[in-house]
Amino acid sequence: MLERQKMLQQDPEVRKSNFNEVALGFTKEQAVEEAKRCLQCKKPSCMKGCPVEVKIPTFLNHVAKGELDEAIKEIKVDNALPAICGRVCPQETQCEQACVLSKKGASVSIGRLERFLADYERKRGVETPTLPEPTGKKVAVVGSGPAGLTAAADLAKMGHSVTIFEALHAAGGVLIYGIPEFRLPKDIVHAEVEYVKKLGVNVLLDSVIGKIATVDELLSEFDAVFLGTGAGLPAFLDIDGENLNGVYSANEFLTRVNLMKSYKFPEYDTPIKKGKRVVVVGGGNVAMDSARCALRLGAEEVTVVYRRGEEEMPARAEEIEHAKEEGIKFRLLTNPVRIVGDGKNWVTHIECINMHLCEPDDSGRCKPAPTPGTEHMIEADVVVIAIGTSPNPLVPRTTKGLEVSKHGTVIAKEDGATTKEGVYAGGDAVTGSATVISAMGAGKKAARAIDAYLKGK
Ligand code: FAD
Ligand code: SF4
Repeated sequence: MLERQKMLQQDPEVRKSNFNEVALGFTKEQAVEEAKRCLQCKKPSCMKGCPVEVKIPTFLNHVAKGELDEAIKEIKVDNALPAICGRVCPQETQCEQACVLSKKGASVSIGRLERFLADYERKRGVETPTLPEPTGKKVAVVGSGPAGLTAAADLAKMGHSVTIFEALHAAGGVLIYGIPEFRLPKDIVHAEVEYVKKLGVNVLLDSVIGKIATVDELLSEFDAVFLGTGAGLPAFLDIDGENLNGVYSANEFLTRVNLMKSYKFPEYDTPIKKGKRVVVVGGGNVAMDSARCALRLGAEEVTVVYRRGEEEMPARAEEIEHAKEEGIKFRLLTNPVRIVGDGKNWVTHIECINMHLCEPDDSGRCKPAPTPGTEHMIEADVVVIAIGTSPNPLVPRTTKGLEVSKHGTVIAKEDGATTKEGVYAGGDAVTGSATVISAMGAGKKAARAIDAYLKGK
């Protein structure tokens, strides 16, 4: 009872040179055994850790009895994207951390069971719920990331007519352009987007709001607008040499690899520089994804340079572990000071300095400071900068009365209401870079608030 079922994974030596999914999922027998570990608590603490309020013990009880159809139906009431959440949500800091069993040994593998059920449903054929009578109200959703997809799905299930406007040529937000194939296969994202479309949601691609129409113009055609535009504007180090050839923002690097499939160039027409010695700057999931993509593109050596220690790294523990297993090197307490070129505009080295930790900063983490005299060079023909992102200012700049914070995030109340009537917002556009499930939670809350607003209108 104390031990979790082990999920099969691709061997690190094999997987580091392919883009196939690393984790292979549970068998039905494993899923049933794992679900039987749940104590069916009267006051289930796990649910408090789930931002979209999935009824965890109920679905686990169905799995334990082998009732897979009932189990997935139960999840889908609250979560339109279970195959995605089951793969990329940081359950270890949410529902699984809150599970009582985590205090005695290991929590129930809630995320892996969610993934198992979603995969089961995809193979079996996805059912759509019966929709209510149309309300006659129209809602525009800007952005098709997890926040936009969740808001759209919930609003459609309430009977409203929903249109998503997406800037890119594919729907899914970071799920489609950022998170790599080996963690989240794109077929799965496409399948979950298809489910949202089956609920009646209209998805318009290549449609940049702020260019093809403003939010004010949308409000003349729609009764309400939800902004789920994310935080896709990359931050840079602001050091010498950052504009040399071979230096990428993680956004550009990952978009080329994932969305444009540059690892299949020239079959797909977007090239990428495949470095021999790649340095990735940053310590979050984005840095781990960039490093592991660079390795799979054929790099001989990939080094993650991070200015704090391992304990402070914001990436999921599992992702750091996977990166290490695959042979990614880590230079912790190290910070770049300049990027050096070969005189013909191509990067050859990155100069770094050692750091040490001082007193905690505003976020409660220890502030890193440079140690004078420790400057050193690291060879690199590709450098990827993965030190964070902020919201794109296009929508706020083109919308009258929509207020933003000094960090560029849209100011919104707990229910997503912004400073402009009829306009709601959620996800990374409001919080800055966060998680898939927090974006989904925000989409869900905003859908409820929009529904109430439309009923009062
Ligand atoms: P996004 O997913 O960013 O979607 C916003 C969408 O809006 C985009 O498709 C964009 O093209 C569109 N858009 C923007 N402006 C406009 C406009 N003007 N008009 C029309 N469309 C517009 N979180 C986790 O929980 N687990 C992970 O393992 C994880 N790994 C990550 C790895 C990477 C590489 C990255 C970048 C992020 C990762 N995250 C992870 C964070 C997570 O993906 C985000 O928090 C989440 O996607 C935010 O969802 P969102 O819907 O708010 O925005
Ligand atoms: Fe089951 Fe853990 Fe939730 Fe209790 S807290 S109901 S054991 S998953």
